[in-house]
Amino acid sequence: MDADLKPPVARILQELLGRPKGTKKMSARRLLRSFGYERRSQENVREICEQFRRAHIHVDLALAHPPSLDEPVTLILDESARPAATPAPSGPVVEGPPPLPRRGKLARRGRASIADIIAAVQEATVQVFTEVGGGSGVIVDPDGLILTSRHVVDSETGLSEREVRVDLWDGSHETATVVRSHRVLDYALLVIPRRKLLAVPIGDSLRLREAETVYVVGSPGGLTNSVSRGIVSAARRRCTTNVEYIQTDAAINPGNSGGPVVTEQGDLIGISTWTYVGDQPRAAHGLNFVIPVDYVVDDIQFLRRIGLTEACRRPYCRHCGWLHAAAPRYCECCGALLAGAGPEGSAP
Ligand SMILES: [Zn+2]
Repeated sequence: MDADLKPPVARILQELLGRPKGTKKMSARRLLRSFGYERRSQENVREICEQFRRAHIHVDLALAHPPSLDEPVTLILDESARPAATPAPSGPVVEGPPPLPRRGKLARRGRASIADIIAAVQEATVQVFTEVGGGSGVIVDPDGLILTSRHVVDSETGLSEREVRVDLWDGSHETATVVRSHRVLDYALLVIPRRKLLAVPIGDSLRLREAETVYVVGSPGGLTNSVSRGIVSAARRRCTTNVEYIQTDAAINPGNSGGPVVTEQGDLIGISTWTYVGDQPRAAHGLNFVIPVDYVVDDIQFLRRIGLTEACRRPYCRHCGWLHAAAPRYCECCGALLAGAGPEGSAP
């Protein structure tokens, strides 16, 4: 594999190699986002196509195609580039991971009232602890995959922890392994060795509209499983960075970070991330920001495909949060020296 491929291209190449037909569809918006772009321009389309060309992948992305960024583009691996060492799967069909809960599941499982729906969300909400702090998190896969904020799993030095403590709703504790995180988008994914957990279905945060009701669950100030309610104040709000947040007036306080934000149907649309407090004495109120779950969906699917146990075994870069298939000396994503390869925390 070309060592200079950007991480999203390397990941898609790996995925296509694992597929008998070597094809995949994804929305143009998601593809642009995986490269860190919110909009389509001549420059970024050219860059993305060039990257895929080097990986022998055809992508039908152009300045005017697809007409809408919500429509899919097709990625096709040039079969002549498929290495002989990775033949198409044959023989017995290997069973994939069980499907994630369907949207609206919490509202459909005989739970007519909002109190019942939120009770189920509370059951899927966890508290995350490190040596220097903690926050909240939400179970997104019954096989033990948890979504939280990157800053919740950061150590004092700003490196991500590899292991943290997770408390579940029933008071039990688990040691969770951090398997992926993102500094800019401020999310992290953790795995606990548990099965058949109640998970919150992943909703469609791209279709969210202003004035829709949302609920925030978490443990602000250690007040376990507190619930607050509000509306979507802005479905997409760009602040100081290129990241587009969901803005809500539902209360988010310290300790809520990483906890679920759900619709009235109990579908996850994001995680609590930060609050604008203003300058004293002109303190601001009700300006809270949520990382939309659509930023994270690709990573969730990737981890499920490689297997959560395998993800825990793979080398993880505590600087940038990238998960490596092999054990390189330096991180392929950010260039930092990986733990175990020498003095921790130093860069080349
Ligand atoms: Zn890295």
